[in-house]
Amino acid sequence: MEEERHDVVVVGAGPAGSLTAKKAAAQGLDVLLIERNQEIGVPVKCAEGVNRAIEQFVVPDKRWISAEVKGANIYAPDGTKVVLSGSKMEEVGYVLERRLFDKFLAHEAARAGAEIRLKTEACGIIEADGYARGVYARSMGQTTRIYADAVIGADGVESRVGRWMGINTRLRPSELSICAEFLMCDIDLNNEYSEFFLGNTIAPKGYAWIFPKGDDSANVGLGIGGDVSGEKHRAIDYLRAFVHERFPAGKVIAEMYGAVPLSGPIRESVANGLILVGDAARHVNPLTGGGIIYAMQAGEIAGDVVAQAVHEHDLSKQRLMEYETRWKKEFGKRLDTGLKAKHFLFNLSDDDLNTLAHSLQGVEIKELSTWALLTELMQRNPRLLFGLAKLLL
Ligand SMILES: Cc1cc2nc3c(=O)[nH]c(=O)nc-3n(C[C@H](O)[C@H](O)[C@H](O)COP(=O)(O)OP(=O)(O)OC[C@H]3O[C@@H](n4cnc5c(N)ncnc54)[C@H](O)[C@@H]3O)c2cc1C
Repeated sequence: MEEERHDVVVVGAGPAGSLTAKKAAAQGLDVLLIERNQEIGVPVKCAEGVNRAIEQFVVPDKRWISAEVKGANIYAPDGTKVVLSGSKMEEVGYVLERRLFDKFLAHEAARAGAEIRLKTEACGIIEADGYARGVYARSMGQTTRIYADAVIGADGVESRVGRWMGINTRLRPSELSICAEFLMCDIDLNNEYSEFFLGNTIAPKGYAWIFPKGDDSANVGLGIGGDVSGEKHRAIDYLRAFVHERFPAGKVIAEMYGAVPLSGPIRESVANGLILVGDAARHVNPLTGGGIIYAMQAGEIAGDVVAQAVHEHDLSKQRLMEYETRWKKEFGKRLDTGLKAKHFLFNLSDDDLNTLAHSLQGVEIKELSTWALLTELMQRNPRLLFGLAKLLL
């Protein structure tokens, strides 16, 4: 078997992997970033909405932005509309072209000095003395032993890297959102707002979305709870019904299916010689399903910590815990709040959702953050949201 050696091997070239690779390479490390697919960013499994916080990591570029949105319209099951607009947006702001965005991030990692290898799939971990010491990788029918001081698991929702080192990455069906999405064109839509639709007949334990992609096209999709998905009640069945009602004459030019981890962050994101980032560490807001920015944020921290740890020749779990402490400080609370809000709001009846939407009529919500919305709702519905308030405050 062929063998090679690097300081760090990063598994998965999504936003989490590319940001980790970029940061570590920029600090002088020999970094190998491996991706099982033959093209970075493809297939797209995403609604592609992000907030302006992305500007902390990259300078927005027209080449990978499809549309800019001013706010969001949220529709209750009875059609009542709640408008959220303002400059402090969470989950909306830009609609990306991830096919190009993910490539751009990988390009940045390469420019910083990382080596990128496509069609290369990690298929096992090299372990010695309780430390991850690299991965076995398969490419074109050949397996290579890739030794490294540190392994980064940035391998997305289906992550196996953590499990190989004994981290419990199992997700129950109720902790997953099962999604279906069409890229549609020839449709009449509001290009300045993202739109969200709630209701147990539209998307049980989830929501439907329309994210404008410019001109007459949009990502039209929905996610439902993994525990309510079943025969004739699959995400695609709900999506077909949604599209049939709203865009009967629209054309579908791409279909996408995927899953989002809504469990809240993983209990342990590090082991000896190993760090998990992004979806692999369940860095996703459990209420909204948004994970791109968290993946980038966690990637930057991981790259920074691993670079220092390699320079210090200390890759122990204890040393790498700095990564966990830092991501928890930066966004752990937001994920915890999102999880509690998800448990509460995804179990409300349509009548309760309508009542909440009615209570927000005439209210101007200028900050589209989960917290701003919940605070507004709790002030207006103390009885209905008493349980949620107790959980959060
Ligand atoms: C339907 C849907 C809609 C979404 N909409 C939004 C949204 O609008 N906004 C938002 O912020 N988030 C959204 N998300 C979530 C978002 O896509 C993820 O949170 C984000 O992509 C996480 O980045 P990542 O780098 O951790 O993982 P990924 O982007 O999934 O990248 C993981 C990479 O690892 C590779 N890989 C996996 N296993 C291996 C292996 N063994 N060897 C080598 N390579 C491997 C994969 O091919 C992939 O390229 C959505 C997700 C879905 C499914």
